[in-house]
Amino acid sequence: MPPVSITSSYAFLPLEEGHLADLRHELIRFGQNRGLKGLVLLATEGINATVCGDADVIAEWKERMRELHSDITFKDSTSESDVFRRWSVKIKPEIVGIKDAALRPQGKRRHLTPEEWQDMLTKENVVIVDARNEYEVEIGAFRGAVNPGIAAFHEFPQWVDRAQLPKNKTVMMYCTGGIRCEKALLAMEARGYEDVYQLEGGILGYLERFPEGDFEGECFVFDHRVAVDQHLHPSLHYGLCPHCGHAGDVLIRCHCTTEQKICSDCARTSSCHSCSKRCRNEVLATRV
Ligand SMILES: [Zn+2]
Ligand SMILES: [Zn+2]
Repeated sequence: MPPVSITSSYAFLPLEEGHLADLRHELIRFGQNRGLKGLVLLATEGINATVCGDADVIAEWKERMRELHSDITFKDSTSESDVFRRWSVKIKPEIVGIKDAALRPQGKRRHLTPEEWQDMLTKENVVIVDARNEYEVEIGAFRGAVNPGIAAFHEFPQWVDRAQLPKNKTVMMYCTGGIRCEKALLAMEARGYEDVYQLEGGILGYLERFPEGDFEGECFVFDHRVAVDQHLHPSLHYGLCPHCGHAGDVLIRCHCTTEQKICSDCARTSSCHSCSKRCRNEVLATRV
């Protein structure tokens, strides 16, 4: 059993504005006292967290999260080493940014368990929609899914307007861990799509039950692993591109002799054949 446990979870629940700072301080102490690492976002609409630590500490964290919301889904994986450098608890306007205050999820809405999702994939007349950003879709997606080609999640509603998907089809939506779909689904409903479903627990939840299933490739994650493979193990294929933060699999040797993986987009720019922003700046400085 690898030494580090990782869990992701979110809950939409009303948190009082005046209570956020207290909750933040309490969670900071909670993590500091136990050596947790990770990123926790708090907003009046809820909490969104990915944390890593010893298995028993992660169990304690889950208990604390269940005190906030009894019916919360955890997506679990493991790694040989910490996947975050520090412990941060931040107060944000939203726990997932769609930049539309009217899209506020309340309770589970049209969720499909991974088993129900797997079943529905075989049905006729369905459209699978990937609610993630293009750079995530590029390294792995459900077979046959529509890629909106967006650079950031808040572009999703405008994409729905442009895409004009047929309203008589069943829409199956998914993202990494489920949180983006909670709002993406409301955005679609607001535009007259009535038959829309979301994958509960997202790709991470699906892969726990169906590795080597209908999700192809690797799943981008927002921590040091960059991506996880079909078995939720840290990616051996991708590294974090130091220039743009996307998944990189082009191996280069920097002028400082360090080997580094960079993404294929950045690989087209010769100054990006460097291991870090700092080394890149050194290359650029020599050209002036
Ligand atoms: Zn890049
Ligand atoms: Zn370098």
